[in-house]
Amino acid sequence: GADMNEELYSTLKSKFGFNQFRHRQKQCILSTLMGHDTFVLMPTGAGKSLCYQLPAVILPGVTVVVSPLRSLIEDQKMKMKELGIGCEALTADLTASAHEEIYSDLSSENPTIKLLYVTPEKISASGRLSSVFYTLHRRGLLARFVIDEAHCVSQWGHDFRPDYTKLNTLREKYNNPPVPIIALTATATPKIVTDARDHLKMQDSKLFISSFVRDNLKYDLIPKAAKSLVNVVEKMKQLYPGKSGIVYCLSRKECETVQMMLTKAGLSAEVYHAGLNDNLRVSVQKSWLANKFDVICATIAFGMGIDKPDVRFVIHYSLPKSIEGYYQETGRAGRDGMPSYCLMLYSYHDSIRLRRMIEEGNTTTGVRSMHLNNVLQVVAYCENVSVCRRKMLVEHFGEVYDEQSCRNSKTPCDICERQRKNVEAIRLFDVS
Ligand code: ADP
Ligand code: MG
Ligand code: ZN
Repeated sequence: GADMNEELYSTLKSKFGFNQFRHRQKQCILSTLMGHDTFVLMPTGAGKSLCYQLPAVILPGVTVVVSPLRSLIEDQKMKMKELGIGCEALTADLTASAHEEIYSDLSSENPTIKLLYVTPEKISASGRLSSVFYTLHRRGLLARFVIDEAHCVSQWGHDFRPDYTKLNTLREKYNNPPVPIIALTATATPKIVTDARDHLKMQDSKLFISSFVRDNLKYDLIPKAAKSLVNVVEKMKQLYPGKSGIVYCLSRKECETVQMMLTKAGLSAEVYHAGLNDNLRVSVQKSWLANKFDVICATIAFGMGIDKPDVRFVIHYSLPKSIEGYYQETGRAGRDGMPSYCLMLYSYHDSIRLRRMIEEGNTTTGVRSMHLNNVLQVVAYCENVSVCRRKMLVEHFGEVYDEQSCRNSKTPCDICERQRKNVEAIRLFDVS
């Protein structure tokens, strides 16, 4: 009722420092607070975390958050601690004594931990953790399960994690009384959503979807030529002095090649990929967050969960692996809502390279043909000369989009911009 509403707003303000809910945050929060299983689809940067962090603060008990990556977990834990919210993370690198401290807090009468982040491996591998969950549940202190990045459960997603599939037991194991589950993802292709809901036994969940249109992103595409990358980055530097961007590459080696190319042209660039050791990775991340260099040359290992609001450009030096991947990767630009630039440097040859990588990969025929099909969709996106890019991107997620909105926006895509110019040219011709 009214009290609940008031409490939501006062907690939003006092604990998180925000005045308003965004998008469908409030509906999602109410749904999960009422005990419904809840499935949340919102684009990256929309503010999904608040949908479980705020309920965790309001209700007694411990909220368990499953998250796929340590970097993501560390990032969230730091934020929660800054806000004075009791938060711990169980990850593989913890010392034995740190483990003990967490377990002993969870077994205490009044755990100080409100949010417990865990990797899915931890849940499936640790019998001790399961028994801690059981005890919490019995004592009525297991507030909620959160499955962040829920698309990882689906084979059809770009981020399949086998350990996520083991989360399919949560719904049944903790059913008396039921512990609500909230699953969140920025991947909204209907096939993956259905698959994930089935897997997690969340068929009865309430589904919340917000628009995937990113009004402040300008999507562009040009053919990839020898100097195009350097030229574009130089232009970006003039347009957005002191700001930085991402150049996505297909492989570690390509990251290094691109870094060299940029450095030779007097630009500053660092590489980021799964091959870096932890220290290096953290230090690159830090200086990138502080805009210490112009460009980060990265494989898709970079990005998930790194919340930098002022990324002004994302350039694909090589083809993304899928339309979804492209949407996610470009989505890291302009999280602050300011105009930002997303450029694809296209070469058909890259699609052949990508297909070769997939064909050589070690996987089942079904998964391979799905990946190949994904690449074909990307090629179709790139070779398209008539359909608005925003339209193509969001319609991939099942959303309907009127390209007039793109055409009339401050950041029309290259296709819409060209058509706008054509229309203006014809008008001029009419007058004369
Ligand atoms: P997602 O998980 O959907 O990608 P996050 O939960 O990481 O997004 O949130 C993205 C950013 O938006 C964070 O910096 C967060 O603090 C901010 N944010 C979330 N909700 C609000 C709100 N209601 N008002 C202002 N900022 C918000
Ligand atoms: Mg998130
Ligand atoms: Zn358009």
